[in-house]
Amino acid sequence: MTATIIDGKAIAQKVREQVARDVEAFAARTGRRPGLATILVGDDPASAIYVANKQKACREVGIEPFDHRLPADATTEQVVELIERLNADEAVSGILCQLPVPGHLDGVHLTGLIDPLKDVDGLTPMSAGLLALGLEGLRPCTPAGVMVLLEESGVELEGAEAVVVGRSNLFGKPMAQLLLAADATVTTAHSRTRDLASVCRRADVLIVAVGRDRMVKADWVKPGAVVIDVGINRTDDGLHGDVDFDAVREVAAKITPVPGGVGPMTIAMLLRNTLQAAEMQEERR
Ligand code: NDP
Repeated sequence: MTATIIDGKAIAQKVREQVARDVEAFAARTGRRPGLATILVGDDPASAIYVANKQKACREVGIEPFDHRLPADATTEQVVELIERLNADEAVSGILCQLPVPGHLDGVHLTGLIDPLKDVDGLTPMSAGLLALGLEGLRPCTPAGVMVLLEESGVELEGAEAVVVGRSNLFGKPMAQLLLAADATVTTAHSRTRDLASVCRRADVLIVAVGRDRMVKADWVKPGAVVIDVGINRTDDGLHGDVDFDAVREVAAKITPVPGGVGPMTIAMLLRNTLQAAEMQEERR
C-alpha cells in the first residue's frame, strides 16, 4: 500500500479562504474588523520572522494586525502593563505573546494574563481548562489544525485507537483532549513509555510530536493507519519530521509530509481563532 498524502498546504489555503470570507461577513455585520495584537519582546531574528509572517497572513484575510515590540531588557511590569492595555482595547480581538521571551521573564506567567476571550494561541491555563471540560473556548492552533486535517481527509475518529506521542502543553496534551472530545480512544506516549513501537502499532491514528528526526519506523505503524507527523527537524540533509516518511508511506493509508503537512495549518488556525475571538467578544457586547 502506498499512502495518500494529506496536503496540508492546500487544506490550510482552504481554511484561509474561508476565514477571509467570514471576516468580510463579520465586518459587514458589525462595522468592525477583527484585530490581532502581537507582542515581541527582544530582537530574536527567528521570532521577528514568525511575527512578521503572522501579521502578513492577517492582512491577507482582512484581519488588522497591531505590532507591539518591547526591548530585550523590558521588565515584567512593562509587559504586564501592555497585556492589560490590550485586554481592555476593544479594537484588539486576539493577543499573541511570541515565545520564547528573554530569560529574565516568565513566559507562562505572562501569557496567563491574556484575557481568555483574546487567547488566540489557546495556551493559557483558562483555555486549557475550558478544553479539558469540553466548554467553548479558543483551542491551541497546531492541535486544532491537526483536527482539521483529519476531518478534511475523511478520517473517522469515533471509536478509533488514537496514539499521540509527546505530552507537551503546547501540543501533545491538547491534542489528546481534542481526540477524546471527538470520541477516539486515546493513548498519550512520552519518553518514559515502555515499548513505544508496540504502543504506536496499536494506533488507527498515530500523531507524533517529539522532535526526533525520523524516529517512527515502518514497523511501528499498523498497516492502513493514518499518520500525522508534527515534528520539525532541521538536519544536514534537509528538513524532516519525526516519521521515516519514505518507509512509512508504504504501510500507512494516509500520511502528512514534512514540510507541507501540519506546519501550514498553524497560522491558518491562528487566523480562524482570531475571528472566533472577535465573534465571542461581539456576542458579549
Ligand atoms: P517538547 O520538547 O515540548 O515535547 C516533546 C515530547 O516528546 C515530550 O513529551 C517528550 O516526553 C517526548 N519525547 C522525547 N523523546 C522521546 C522519545 N524518545 N520517545 C517518546 N517520546 C519522546 O516539544 P513540542 O511538543 O513543543 O514539539 C514537538 C515537535 O513538534 C518539535 O519537533 C516541534 O518543532 C514540532 N512542532 C511543530 C509545530 C508545527 O507547527 N508544525 C508546532 C509545535 C511543535 P517527556 O514529556 O517524557 O519529556
